[in-house]
Amino acid sequence: MRESRMTRNGHVRFGERGRETRLSQGRKVRSAPTLFSPILANILLDKLDRFVETVLIPQYTKGGRRTPNHEYQRLLDRSRQLRKKGLAAEADALRKRAQKMPSIDPTDPNYRRLRYVRYADDFLLGFTGPRSEAEEIKQQLGAFLRDELKLELSKTKTLITHARSEAARFLGYEVTVLQKDAKRSARVTEGTRTKIRSINGGIGLRVPLDVLEEKCNRYQKNGKVVDRAELLNDSDFTIIATYQLEYRGIANYYRLAYNMHLLKRLKWVMEQSLTKTLAAKFKKSVSKIYDHYEVELEVDGKRYKGLQTVIPREGKEPLVATWGGIPLKWDIGADLEDQPQRAWGGRTELEKRLLAQVCELCGTTHMLDKIEVHHIRALKDLNRYTGREKPEWVKRMAARHRKTLILCRTCHQDITYGRPMRRQSIKLKDVTALQKARTTMLESRMP
Ligand SMILES: [Zn+2]
Repeated sequence: MRESRMTRNGHVRFGERGRETRLSQGRKVRSAPTLFSPILANILLDKLDRFVETVLIPQYTKGGRRTPNHEYQRLLDRSRQLRKKGLAAEADALRKRAQKMPSIDPTDPNYRRLRYVRYADDFLLGFTGPRSEAEEIKQQLGAFLRDELKLELSKTKTLITHARSEAARFLGYEVTVLQKDAKRSARVTEGTRTKIRSINGGIGLRVPLDVLEEKCNRYQKNGKVVDRAELLNDSDFTIIATYQLEYRGIANYYRLAYNMHLLKRLKWVMEQSLTKTLAAKFKKSVSKIYDHYEVELEVDGKRYKGLQTVIPREGKEPLVATWGGIPLKWDIGADLEDQPQRAWGGRTELEKRLLAQVCELCGTTHMLDKIEVHHIRALKDLNRYTGREKPEWVKRMAARHRKTLILCRTCHQDITYGRPMRRQSIKLKDVTALQKARTTMLESRMP
């Protein structure tokens, strides 16, 4: 990333279909099958990497250092002379004027740089050079993808943006070239303490505002924060843990964004939705919910207000679900999770159930049997079992309004072939308790 500080006049951006569309449409379509799995993308786009690295980059790399801006140099020289003569005020004025212009020639025709980065099917090119050449690069890239890989560049997502004044999108982030003449750091040059422009040309990563809005909208209806009806049948433990998982996923994902403090708003919206959900579940007021669940949390020596519920267990550590206590601390060195689309929006209920690897009928875990997912097309299909005692699995799916059931292979086969169940079903609440215990265990192992 440091290298891309060269990025200047043009910024080419070729984001392929997929991730952003999927995200902006919310979690409903998030699991929709995508053309590219990350692995498939890597196999296919390995050719693209080689094309960019061996053809485009050499073609668009020119020159060593950019030529200095002569006007800038002239002003600084003059300022120095004035200072020697004791005319400090005049010297400062000239220096100020110089610092409004670039120290090098940004349009140096003998200087070109092209940088490339790809993650799965999303990629970004940073280019130092005129827009017309950025267009050429885009054409060449499009032709290569079409002729060699039979792929089309997305018209709407393949954008050339001016990196100083606009932002390019990459992996859900906005990427910009920083430009703020007023941001200075002290430096001693030739014995005088001066301040130099310190961030210009650096790369900045931001949470895009529309992404933030879209995340907030998931908890809102007509501009008002609402509860989540689909969680009302879950325990307070699961509800609190679900919100926290979702929020933590987003916060961790945007750890690299210098404006990540904006997630404060998302947290506020989510907290309202969470407390409203608990209030609706227990038919109590939101303030009663705070009275009951509010705790003070201490994270890295700092105090935060949060919500918490604890399930004591005999002879074992209690199970704790917590809302809050996630510092919005920018960390440019943070590692992103390998599969950001999973962390995005937190894990879904289904992902968590899958993660737990518990058969939702007999309670077997993956240690004893292979865990599979049983799907039905629509909940109304469950009504086909009329006139006789509904099988336990049908009751269970209907009761929880779910189209999936996580099963061990034995139970799954018995259901699929309509055979009597070989394993005895355990109570639904015991299944939930098992899942919770196992996800909590897994969660605690995550960094
Ligand atoms: Zn089973």
